[in-house]
Amino acid sequence: MKVLKFGGTSVGTALRMKEVAKLVVDGERKIVVLSAMSGTTNTLVEISDYLYKKNPEGANEIINKLELKYRQHVDELYATEEYRQRAWEVVKSHFDYIRSYTKDLFTLFEEKVILAQGELISTAMVNFYLLECGVKSVLLPALEFMRTDKNAEPDLVYIKDKLQAQMELYPDADIYITQGFICRNAYGEIDNLQRGGSDYTASLIGAAINASEIQIWTDIDGMHNNDPRVVDKTAPVRQLHFEEAAELAYFGAKILHPTCVQPAKYANIPVRLLNTMDPTASGTLISNDTEKGKIKAVAAKDNITAIKIKSSRMLLAYGFLRKVFEIFESYQTSIDMVCTSEVGVSVTIDNTKHLNEILDDLKKYGTVTVDKDMCIICVVGDLEWENVGFEARALDAMRDIPVRMISFGGSNYNISFLIRECDKKKALQSLSDTLFNKK
Ligand code: ADP
Ligand code: ASP
Ligand code: MG
Repeated sequence: MKVLKFGGTSVGTALRMKEVAKLVVDGERKIVVLSAMSGTTNTLVEISDYLYKKNPEGANEIINKLELKYRQHVDELYATEEYRQRAWEVVKSHFDYIRSYTKDLFTLFEEKVILAQGELISTAMVNFYLLECGVKSVLLPALEFMRTDKNAEPDLVYIKDKLQAQMELYPDADIYITQGFICRNAYGEIDNLQRGGSDYTASLIGAAINASEIQIWTDIDGMHNNDPRVVDKTAPVRQLHFEEAAELAYFGAKILHPTCVQPAKYANIPVRLLNTMDPTASGTLISNDTEKGKIKAVAAKDNITAIKIKSSRMLLAYGFLRKVFEIFESYQTSIDMVCTSEVGVSVTIDNTKHLNEILDDLKKYGTVTVDKDMCIICVVGDLEWENVGFEARALDAMRDIPVRMISFGGSNYNISFLIRECDKKKALQSLSDTLFNKK
Protein backbone atom coordinates (compact mmCIF):
# COMPACT_ATOMS: atom_id res chain seq x y z
CA MET A 1 0.00 0.00 0.00
CA LYS A 2 1.16 3.57 -0.70
CA VAL A 3 1.00 6.62 1.56
CA LEU A 4 0.25 9.93 -0.18
CA LYS A 5 0.71 13.24 1.60
CA PHE A 6 -0.76 16.46 0.24
CA GLY A 7 0.57 19.75 1.60
CA GLY A 8 -1.26 22.97 2.37
CA THR A 9 -1.20 24.39 -1.16
CA SER A 10 -2.42 21.07 -2.57
CA VAL A 11 -5.60 21.38 -0.49
CA GLY A 12 -5.61 25.20 -0.43
CA THR A 13 -8.93 25.76 -2.23
CA ALA A 14 -12.10 23.79 -2.98
CA LEU A 15 -10.82 23.32 -6.52
CA ARG A 16 -7.51 21.93 -5.32
CA MET A 17 -9.33 19.51 -3.01
CA LYS A 18 -11.28 18.24 -6.01
CA GLU A 19 -7.98 17.71 -7.87
CA VAL A 20 -6.61 15.75 -4.91
CA ALA A 21 -9.73 13.58 -4.94
CA LYS A 22 -9.13 12.82 -8.63
CA LEU A 23 -5.52 11.87 -7.93
CA VAL A 24 -6.23 9.50 -5.06
CA VAL A 25 -9.10 7.57 -6.63
CA ASP A 26 -7.37 5.08 -8.93
CA GLY A 27 -8.65 1.74 -7.69
CA GLU A 28 -5.72 1.16 -5.31
CA ARG A 29 -6.19 1.19 -1.53
CA LYS A 30 -4.10 3.87 0.10
CA ILE A 31 -3.56 6.12 3.09
CA VAL A 32 -3.87 9.84 2.37
CA VAL A 33 -2.27 12.31 4.78
CA LEU A 34 -3.44 15.92 4.56
CA SER A 35 -2.11 19.22 5.86
CA ALA A 36 -4.35 22.12 6.82
CA MET A 37 -5.48 24.37 3.95
CA SER A 38 -2.59 26.75 3.19
CA GLY A 39 -2.42 29.74 5.51
CA THR A 40 -4.65 28.13 8.14
CA THR A 41 -1.95 27.02 10.58
CA ASN A 42 -0.37 30.48 10.38
CA THR A 43 -3.77 32.03 11.13
CA LEU A 44 -4.25 29.67 14.08
CA VAL A 45 -0.84 30.75 15.38
CA GLU A 46 -1.98 34.38 15.05
CA ILE A 47 -5.19 33.64 16.97
CA SER A 48 -3.13 31.99 19.72
CA ASP A 49 -0.88 35.01 19.83
CA TYR A 50 -3.85 37.29 20.56
CA LEU A 51 -5.02 34.90 23.25
CA TYR A 52 -1.58 34.80 24.89
CA LYS A 53 -1.77 38.58 24.94
CA LYS A 54 -5.20 38.36 26.58
CA ASN A 55 -6.96 40.03 23.67
CA PRO A 56 -10.02 37.83 22.97
CA GLU A 57 -11.54 40.54 20.79
CA GLY A 58 -8.57 40.49 18.43
CA ALA A 59 -8.69 36.69 18.38
CA ASN A 60 -12.43 36.61 17.67
CA GLU A 61 -12.07 38.97 14.75
CA ILE A 62 -9.60 36.62 13.06
CA ILE A 63 -11.63 33.53 13.96
CA ASN A 64 -14.74 35.06 12.33
CA LYS A 65 -12.82 36.01 9.20
CA LEU A 66 -11.35 32.52 8.88
CA GLU A 67 -14.75 30.94 9.47
CA LEU A 68 -16.23 33.05 6.68
CA LYS A 69 -13.52 31.84 4.29
CA TYR A 70 -14.29 28.24 5.21
CA ARG A 71 -18.00 28.85 4.65
CA GLN A 72 -17.11 29.80 1.07
CA HIS A 73 -14.84 26.77 0.62
CA VAL A 74 -17.62 24.47 1.82
CA ASP A 75 -20.20 26.14 -0.46
CA GLU A 76 -17.88 25.65 -3.41
CA LEU A 77 -16.74 22.12 -2.67
CA TYR A 78 -19.97 20.12 -2.53
CA ALA A 79 -22.51 19.55 -5.26
CA THR A 80 -25.40 18.62 -3.00
CA GLU A 81 -27.11 20.52 -0.21
CA GLU A 82 -26.98 17.39 1.95
CA TYR A 83 -23.16 17.24 1.95
CA ARG A 84 -22.80 21.00 2.16
CA GLN A 85 -24.78 20.88 5.35
CA ARG A 86 -23.10 17.82 6.80
CA ALA A 87 -19.65 19.27 6.15
CA TRP A 88 -20.57 22.72 7.42
CA GLU A 89 -21.88 21.29 10.69
CA VAL A 90 -18.50 19.68 11.33
CA VAL A 91 -16.45 22.69 10.21
CA LYS A 92 -18.61 25.00 12.32
CA SER A 93 -18.18 22.77 15.38
CA HIS A 94 -14.40 23.20 15.06
CA PHE A 95 -14.76 26.98 14.94
CA ASP A 96 -17.06 26.94 17.98
CA TYR A 97 -14.46 24.83 19.72
CA ILE A 98 -11.72 27.36 18.87
CA ARG A 99 -13.99 30.13 20.21
CA SER A 100 -14.44 28.29 23.49
CA TYR A 101 -10.71 28.86 24.10
CA THR A 102 -11.06 32.65 24.00
CA LYS A 103 -12.62 32.73 27.46
CA ASP A 104 -10.15 31.09 29.84
CA LEU A 105 -6.52 30.88 30.72
CA PHE A 106 -4.37 30.38 27.63
CA THR A 107 -1.15 28.35 27.75
CA LEU A 108 0.98 26.17 25.50
CA PHE A 109 -1.50 23.30 25.94
CA GLU A 110 -4.42 25.33 24.63
CA GLU A 111 -2.31 26.59 21.74
CA LYS A 112 -1.55 23.00 20.67
CA VAL A 113 -5.29 22.23 20.64
CA ILE A 114 -5.99 25.29 18.49
CA LEU A 115 -3.18 24.44 16.05
CA ALA A 116 -4.64 20.95 15.61
CA GLN A 117 -7.93 22.26 14.21
CA GLY A 118 -6.57 23.06 10.72
CA GLU A 119 -5.81 19.43 9.85
CA LEU A 120 -8.98 18.19 11.56
CA ILE A 121 -11.04 20.51 9.33
CA SER A 122 -9.25 19.84 6.02
CA THR A 123 -9.43 16.05 6.41
CA ALA A 124 -13.14 16.18 7.33
CA MET A 125 -13.83 18.32 4.23
CA VAL A 126 -11.98 16.04 1.79
CA ASN A 127 -13.50 12.93 3.35
CA PHE A 128 -17.02 14.32 2.92
CA TYR A 129 -16.19 15.23 -0.67
CA LEU A 130 -15.01 11.69 -1.46
CA LEU A 131 -18.13 10.25 0.17
CA GLU A 132 -20.29 12.58 -1.89
CA CYS A 133 -18.49 11.27 -4.99
CA GLY A 134 -19.38 7.73 -3.94
CA VAL A 135 -15.85 6.71 -2.90
CA LYS A 136 -15.41 4.31 0.03
CA SER A 137 -13.39 6.72 2.14
CA VAL A 138 -12.95 6.82 5.94
CA LEU A 139 -11.28 9.17 8.38
CA LEU A 140 -8.55 7.67 10.54
CA PRO A 141 -8.16 9.97 13.56
CA ALA A 142 -4.43 10.71 13.93
CA LEU A 143 -5.00 11.57 17.60
CA GLU A 144 -5.86 7.89 18.15
CA PHE A 145 -2.57 6.49 16.83
CA MET A 146 0.10 9.16 16.29
CA ARG A 147 2.00 9.48 19.55
CA THR A 148 5.34 10.73 20.87
CA ASP A 149 7.19 9.33 23.87
CA LYS A 150 8.73 11.05 26.92
CA ASN A 151 11.64 12.29 24.79
CA ALA A 152 9.18 13.78 22.30
CA GLU A 153 10.22 11.13 19.76
CA PRO A 154 7.55 9.22 17.81
CA ASP A 155 6.63 5.94 19.49
CA LEU A 156 6.75 3.67 16.44
CA VAL A 157 5.54 0.53 18.21
CA TYR A 158 2.46 2.33 19.56
CA ILE A 159 1.83 3.99 16.19
CA LYS A 160 2.03 0.67 14.36
CA ASP A 161 -0.33 -1.13 16.77
CA LYS A 162 -2.94 1.57 17.02
CA LEU A 163 -2.90 2.43 13.33
CA GLN A 164 -3.44 -1.19 12.44
CA ALA A 165 -6.31 -1.43 14.93
CA GLN A 166 -7.92 1.68 13.44
CA MET A 167 -7.59 0.34 9.90
CA GLU A 168 -9.08 -3.01 10.90
CA LEU A 169 -12.25 -1.19 11.95
CA TYR A 170 -12.85 -0.41 8.26
CA PRO A 171 -11.83 -3.47 6.23
CA ASP A 172 -13.89 -2.37 3.23
CA ALA A 173 -12.48 1.13 2.91
CA ASP A 174 -10.61 2.07 -0.26
CA ILE A 175 -9.18 5.37 0.95
CA TYR A 176 -8.04 6.09 4.48
CA ILE A 177 -7.74 9.82 5.13
CA THR A 178 -5.77 11.09 8.11
CA GLN A 179 -4.36 14.29 9.57
CA GLY A 180 -0.72 15.20 9.15
CA PHE A 181 1.17 17.19 11.80
CA ILE A 182 -1.02 16.41 14.83
CA CYS A 183 -0.35 13.82 17.52
CA ARG A 184 -0.60 13.17 21.24
CA ASN A 185 2.39 13.27 23.55
CA ALA A 186 3.41 10.72 26.19
CA TYR A 187 0.86 12.22 28.59
CA GLY A 188 -2.02 11.91 26.13
CA GLU A 189 -2.19 15.66 25.50
CA ILE A 190 -2.75 17.04 22.01
CA ASP A 191 0.57 17.98 20.48
CA ASN A 192 2.18 18.31 17.06
CA LEU A 193 5.24 17.22 15.09
CA GLN A 194 6.46 20.82 14.58
CA ARG A 195 5.66 23.18 11.73
CA GLY A 196 5.77 21.45 8.36
CA GLY A 197 5.44 18.14 10.22
CA SER A 198 2.85 16.53 7.94
CA ASP A 199 5.74 15.13 5.89
CA TYR A 200 6.92 13.41 9.07
CA THR A 201 3.45 11.93 9.63
CA ALA A 202 3.51 10.43 6.14
CA SER A 203 6.94 8.92 6.66
CA LEU A 204 6.02 7.48 10.09
CA ILE A 205 2.84 5.95 8.67
CA GLY A 206 4.79 4.58 5.72
CA ALA A 207 7.25 2.90 8.09
CA ALA A 208 4.41 1.65 10.35
CA ILE A 209 2.55 -0.14 7.54
CA ASN A 210 5.66 -1.02 5.55
CA ALA A 211 4.32 0.94 2.58
CA SER A 212 5.57 0.29 -0.94
CA GLU A 213 6.13 4.04 -1.43
CA ILE A 214 5.65 7.34 0.37
CA GLN A 215 4.57 10.18 -1.92
CA ILE A 216 4.89 13.82 -0.88
CA TRP A 217 2.67 15.90 -3.17
CA THR A 218 3.33 19.64 -3.22
CA ASP A 219 3.27 22.68 -5.50
CA ILE A 220 6.54 22.14 -7.36
CA ASP A 221 8.04 19.43 -9.57
CA GLY A 222 10.28 17.72 -7.00
CA MET A 223 13.42 18.83 -5.19
CA HIS A 224 15.19 21.50 -7.23
CA ASN A 225 18.95 21.84 -7.54
CA ASN A 226 18.80 25.24 -5.82
CA ASP A 227 16.26 27.32 -3.91
CA PRO A 228 13.65 28.40 -6.50
CA ARG A 229 12.60 31.23 -4.19
CA VAL A 230 16.06 32.83 -4.44
CA VAL A 231 17.76 31.70 -7.65
CA ASP A 232 16.88 31.90 -11.36
CA LYS A 233 16.97 28.83 -13.56
CA THR A 234 16.69 26.00 -11.08
CA ALA A 235 15.86 22.49 -12.27
CA PRO A 236 14.37 19.42 -10.63
CA VAL A 237 16.71 16.69 -9.40
CA ARG A 238 15.28 13.32 -10.42
CA GLN A 239 17.05 11.07 -7.94
CA LEU A 240 18.51 11.59 -4.47
CA HIS A 241 20.02 9.36 -1.81
CA PHE A 242 18.24 9.58 1.56
CA GLU A 243 21.36 11.21 3.05
CA GLU A 244 21.45 13.82 0.28
CA ALA A 245 17.76 14.57 0.79
CA ALA A 246 18.28 14.83 4.55
CA GLU A 247 21.16 17.31 4.15
CA LEU A 248 19.15 19.42 1.68
CA ALA A 249 16.03 19.41 3.84
CA TYR A 250 17.97 20.28 6.98
CA PHE A 251 19.87 23.04 5.22
CA GLY A 252 16.81 24.83 3.92
CA ALA A 253 15.21 23.01 0.99
CA LYS A 254 11.74 23.60 2.34
CA ILE A 255 9.98 21.13 0.03
CA LEU A 256 10.75 18.32 2.48
CA HIS A 257 10.74 18.41 6.27
CA PRO A 258 14.12 17.10 7.51
CA THR A 259 12.56 14.70 10.05
CA CYS A 260 10.70 12.94 7.25
CA VAL A 261 13.78 11.17 5.87
CA GLN A 262 14.77 8.93 8.78
CA PRO A 263 11.74 6.61 9.20
CA ALA A 264 11.58 6.00 5.44
CA LYS A 265 15.32 5.40 5.19
CA TYR A 266 15.36 2.87 8.05
CA ALA A 267 12.39 1.02 6.63
CA ASN A 268 13.96 1.31 3.14
CA ILE A 269 10.78 2.77 1.66
CA PRO A 270 11.30 5.07 -1.35
CA VAL A 271 9.98 8.61 -1.03
CA ARG A 272 8.70 10.32 -4.17
CA LEU A 273 8.21 14.09 -4.35
CA LEU A 274 5.44 14.94 -6.81
CA ASN A 275 3.65 18.01 -8.11
CA THR A 276 -0.12 18.35 -7.64
CA MET A 277 -0.23 21.11 -10.26
CA ASP A 278 1.40 18.80 -12.83
CA PRO A 279 0.77 15.21 -11.74
CA THR A 280 2.46 13.59 -14.74
CA ALA A 281 5.82 15.32 -14.12
CA SER A 282 8.51 12.88 -12.92
CA GLY A 283 9.27 14.56 -9.60
CA THR A 284 12.13 13.30 -7.41
CA LEU A 285 12.73 9.78 -6.19
CA ILE A 286 14.56 9.47 -2.86
CA SER A 287 16.02 6.06 -2.08
CA ASN A 288 19.13 4.27 -0.83
CA ASP A 289 20.75 4.49 -4.30
CA THR A 290 23.58 6.90 -5.09
CA GLU A 291 24.32 8.40 -8.48
CA LYS A 292 28.08 8.10 -8.74
CA GLY A 293 30.18 11.26 -8.80
CA LYS A 294 27.39 13.77 -9.23
CA ILE A 295 26.78 17.07 -7.47
CA LYS A 296 23.03 17.21 -7.01
CA ALA A 297 21.89 20.41 -5.36
CA VAL A 298 22.58 23.40 -3.15
CA ALA A 299 20.62 24.68 -0.16
CA ALA A 300 21.03 27.48 2.37
CA LYS A 301 20.16 27.91 6.01
CA ASP A 302 19.83 31.43 7.48
CA ASN A 303 20.07 32.88 10.99
CA ILE A 304 23.34 31.20 11.80
CA THR A 305 25.72 32.45 14.48
CA ALA A 306 29.41 31.54 14.38
CA ILE A 307 31.50 31.33 17.56
CA LYS A 308 35.27 31.09 17.58
CA ILE A 309 37.25 30.01 20.67
CA LYS A 310 40.98 30.62 20.40
CA SER A 311 43.34 29.32 23.02
CA SER A 312 47.00 28.45 23.18
CA ARG A 313 45.92 25.90 25.79
CA MET A 314 44.48 23.85 22.94
CA LEU A 315 47.97 23.33 21.52
CA LEU A 316 48.96 19.68 22.05
CA ALA A 317 46.29 19.31 24.74
CA TYR A 318 43.60 16.68 24.89
CA GLY A 319 40.06 17.11 26.20
CA PHE A 320 39.77 20.74 25.04
CA LEU A 321 37.08 20.06 22.44
CA ARG A 322 35.08 17.98 24.91
CA LYS A 323 35.01 20.89 27.37
CA VAL A 324 33.86 23.26 24.62
CA PHE A 325 31.14 20.90 23.36
CA GLU A 326 29.92 20.18 26.89
CA ILE A 327 29.05 23.84 27.31
CA PHE A 328 26.76 23.73 24.28
CA GLU A 329 25.26 20.48 25.50
CA SER A 330 24.50 21.90 28.93
CA TYR A 331 22.43 24.65 27.26
CA GLN A 332 20.73 22.17 24.92
CA THR A 333 22.11 24.01 21.92
CA SER A 334 23.05 21.91 18.94
CA ILE A 335 26.03 22.65 16.75
CA ASP A 336 25.76 22.55 12.94
CA MET A 337 29.28 23.13 11.62
CA VAL A 338 32.68 22.66 13.25
CA CYS A 339 36.13 23.69 12.00
CA THR A 340 39.27 23.28 14.05
CA SER A 341 42.89 24.29 13.92
CA GLU A 342 45.61 23.53 16.45
CA VAL A 343 44.89 26.73 18.38
CA GLY A 344 41.22 27.34 17.87
CA VAL A 345 37.82 25.99 17.04
CA SER A 346 34.88 27.60 15.25
CA VAL A 347 31.35 26.26 15.56
CA THR A 348 27.96 27.44 14.33
CA ILE A 349 24.58 27.38 16.04
CA ASP A 350 21.08 28.37 14.90
CA ASN A 351 19.48 28.62 18.32
CA THR A 352 20.73 31.69 20.18
CA LYS A 353 18.40 31.42 23.18
CA HIS A 354 21.31 30.77 25.55
CA LEU A 355 24.01 32.57 23.57
CA ASN A 356 25.04 34.88 26.41
CA GLU A 357 25.39 32.07 28.94
CA ILE A 358 27.32 29.97 26.42
CA LEU A 359 29.72 32.85 25.68
CA ASP A 360 30.25 33.48 29.40
CA ASP A 361 31.17 29.84 29.98
CA LEU A 362 33.38 29.62 26.89
CA LYS A 363 35.45 32.58 28.06
CA LYS A 364 36.93 30.29 30.73
CA TYR A 365 38.73 28.42 27.97
CA GLY A 366 39.90 31.07 25.55
CA THR A 367 39.28 34.25 23.59
CA VAL A 368 35.79 34.21 22.15
CA THR A 369 34.50 36.02 19.05
CA VAL A 370 31.01 35.96 17.58
CA ASP A 371 29.72 36.58 14.03
CA LYS A 372 25.96 36.99 13.68
CA ASP A 373 23.65 37.01 10.63
CA MET A 374 25.57 34.29 8.89
CA CYS A 375 24.31 31.62 6.52
CA ILE A 376 25.35 28.03 5.79
CA ILE A 377 25.52 27.08 2.13
CA CYS A 378 25.42 23.37 1.66
CA VAL A 379 26.49 21.65 -1.58
CA VAL A 380 25.13 18.12 -1.78
CA GLY A 381 25.99 15.14 -3.95
CA ASP A 382 28.24 12.10 -4.18
CA LEU A 383 31.25 13.82 -2.61
CA GLU A 384 33.13 10.74 -1.54
CA TRP A 385 36.70 11.90 -0.78
CA GLU A 386 38.40 9.87 -3.50
CA ASN A 387 36.36 11.58 -6.22
CA VAL A 388 38.58 14.37 -7.48
CA GLY A 389 37.78 17.90 -8.62
CA PHE A 390 34.44 18.49 -6.91
CA GLU A 391 35.79 20.53 -4.01
CA ALA A 392 37.67 22.72 -6.46
CA ARG A 393 34.53 23.37 -8.54
CA ALA A 394 32.50 24.35 -5.50
CA LEU A 395 35.29 26.54 -4.16
CA ASP A 396 35.72 28.18 -7.54
CA ALA A 397 32.10 29.33 -7.44
CA MET A 398 32.79 31.04 -4.11
CA ARG A 399 35.88 32.91 -5.33
CA ASP A 400 34.35 36.41 -4.95
CA ILE A 401 32.58 35.77 -1.67
CA PRO A 402 34.11 36.10 1.82
CA VAL A 403 33.96 32.61 3.36
CA ARG A 404 34.16 32.33 7.15
CA MET A 405 34.24 28.51 7.44
CA ILE A 406 34.46 25.47 5.13
CA SER A 407 33.50 21.96 6.19
CA PHE A 408 34.15 18.83 4.13
CA GLY A 409 34.61 15.18 5.04
CA GLY A 410 31.99 14.92 7.79
CA SER A 411 29.86 12.84 5.47
CA ASN A 412 30.26 11.56 1.93
CA TYR A 413 27.50 13.82 0.77
CA ASN A 414 28.27 17.46 1.41
CA ILE A 415 30.56 20.47 1.51
CA SER A 416 29.36 23.40 3.61
CA PHE A 417 30.40 27.02 3.51
CA LEU A 418 29.65 29.63 6.12
CA ILE A 419 29.18 33.09 4.64
CA ARG A 420 27.38 36.34 5.48
CA GLU A 421 23.63 36.21 5.04
CA CYS A 422 23.81 39.27 2.78
CA ASP A 423 25.99 37.29 0.34
CA LYS A 424 23.57 34.35 0.15
CA LYS A 425 21.81 35.19 -3.10
CA LYS A 426 25.08 35.87 -4.89
CA ALA A 427 26.63 32.64 -3.60
CA LEU A 428 23.63 30.49 -4.51
CA GLN A 429 23.43 32.00 -7.99
CA SER A 430 27.15 31.58 -8.57
CA LEU A 431 27.06 27.93 -7.40
CA SER A 432 24.10 27.29 -9.70
CA ASP A 433 25.90 28.83 -12.67
CA THR A 434 29.14 26.96 -11.99
CA LEU A 435 27.78 23.56 -11.01
CA PHE A 436 24.56 23.15 -12.97
CA ASN A 437 24.09 25.72 -15.73
CA LYS A 438 27.51 25.52 -17.42
CA LYS A 439 27.68 23.55 -20.64
P1 ADP B 1 3.65 21.98 1.40
O1 ADP B 1 2.72 23.02 1.90
O2 ADP B 1 3.11 21.17 0.27
O3 ADP B 1 4.25 21.14 2.49
P2 ADP B 1 5.99 23.65 1.32
O4 ADP B 1 5.58 25.08 1.16
O5 ADP B 1 6.33 23.15 2.69
O6 ADP B 1 4.84 22.75 0.68
O7 ADP B 1 7.21 23.31 0.35
C1 ADP B 1 7.16 23.58 -1.05
C2 ADP B 1 7.99 24.81 -1.37
O8 ADP B 1 9.35 24.60 -1.02
C3 ADP B 1 8.08 25.13 -2.85
O9 ADP B 1 6.99 25.90 -3.27
C4 ADP B 1 9.40 25.86 -2.98
O10 ADP B 1 9.24 27.26 -3.07
C5 ADP B 1 10.13 25.59 -1.67
N1 ADP B 1 11.50 25.12 -1.86
C6 ADP B 1 12.59 25.58 -1.20
N2 ADP B 1 13.70 24.99 -1.62
C7 ADP B 1 13.35 24.09 -2.56
C8 ADP B 1 14.06 23.16 -3.38
N3 ADP B 1 15.39 22.98 -3.28
N4 ADP B 1 13.34 22.43 -4.26
C9 ADP B 1 12.00 22.58 -4.36
N5 ADP B 1 11.28 23.42 -3.61
C10 ADP B 1 11.93 24.18 -2.71
N1 ASP C 1 -0.14 22.60 8.80
C1 ASP C 1 1.16 22.46 9.40
C2 ASP C 1 2.01 23.68 9.11
O1 ASP C 1 1.58 24.57 8.39
C3 ASP C 1 1.86 21.20 9.03
C4 ASP C 1 2.17 21.02 7.57
O2 ASP C 1 1.62 21.69 6.71
O3 ASP C 1 3.00 20.16 7.26
O4 ASP C 1 3.09 23.77 9.62
MG1 MG D 1 5.83 21.43 3.89
